Amino acid sequence: MLSPYKRFVIVRKKQETKNVSYISFDKNLKAKPGQFVMVWIDQGIEKPFSVANSKPFELAVAAIGPGSNALCEKKEGQEVFVRGPYGKGFDYVGKRWLVVGGGYGFAPLRFLIKEGLLKNKNLKVDCVIGAREGQYLMQPLEHKAVKTIFTTDDGSVGLKGTVLVAVEKLIKQNKYDCIYCAGPEKMMKAVALLAQEYKIPSQLSIERYYKCGFGICGHCSLNGWLSCYDGPTISGQKALALPDFGLFTKDKAGRKIKI
Ligand SMILES: Cc1cc2nc3c(=O)[nH]c(=O)nc-3n(C[C@H](O)[C@H](O)[C@H](O)COP(=O)(O)OP(=O)(O)OC[C@H]3O[C@@H](n4cnc5c(N)ncnc54)[C@H](O)[C@@H]3O)c2cc1C
Repeated sequence: MLSPYKRFVIVRKKQETKNVSYISFDKNLKAKPGQFVMVWIDQGIEKPFSVANSKPFELAVAAIGPGSNALCEKKEGQEVFVRGPYGKGFDYVGKRWLVVGGGYGFAPLRFLIKEGLLKNKNLKVDCVIGAREGQYLMQPLEHKAVKTIFTTDDGSVGLKGTVLVAVEKLIKQNKYDCIYCAGPEKMMKAVALLAQEYKIPSQLSIERYYKCGFGICGHCSLNGWLSCYDGPTISGQKALALPDFGLFTKDKAGRKIKI
């Protein structure tokens, strides 16, 4: 249902990567990792963003177009209006996780690991953080129960190649209860296929162009599955059964386009 807008003021902004701003607000927001909010930025621009932290409410925003640029250009002391949180969060499965993040996709996963460690003192996490170059790598979560491997396409930091180079090696060496993955859709599909091959449960977060954010307009439908309402989190198995997954998305006007 349409929830009322809440006003949030930016109290801190830092540049997490070359194009991702990490924005902290003045209040907490009760939300589960994997849920998103709709942010009314200004001049009629409203966009969904994954909650990157709830206490305080924080977002990781990649400056790639008009809405995200306008949000990244806001300064400390400026306001935004937020509705939500919406959508389903990730499920906490078992105590040995492989977490795979590409670009800003790692932000909600870092929130997931933080919450997971609070819920389960025995949780152990291997993380793979990938980017095309070192300057686009997101920050790892520093904790004794978390081991991180970086991959870059150009080999400037960590292993050279995509996250898959590290993921397959780790899957062969360890027994994971669940693989969590968020980032570019083709990357998520490749990880979901590996998880399926090795019979490991997986959870992903699928993004589409959102308008309403709460399941009435149908703009974010992937073969009938509504990303904003049924997701954005989804099991790898369910995602692989959606014919458009990893192949087609929709533009602002609803035209089907290749990913
Ligand atoms: C559930 C959800 C969570 C999100 N979380 C974050 C987040 O934490 N941080 C963040 O930076 N962004 C996030 N996004 C993306 C964000 O909502 C905007 O789409 C993005 O900021 C681009 O908006 P824009 O107005 O800047 O540019 P636009 O002009 O809208 O888009 C710029 C380019 O990106 C493409 N694009 C836009 N939206 C999508 C999409 N959903 N999927 C694939 N391609 C797209 C467009 O086709 C265009 O090529 C999320 C989206 C969803 C659906």
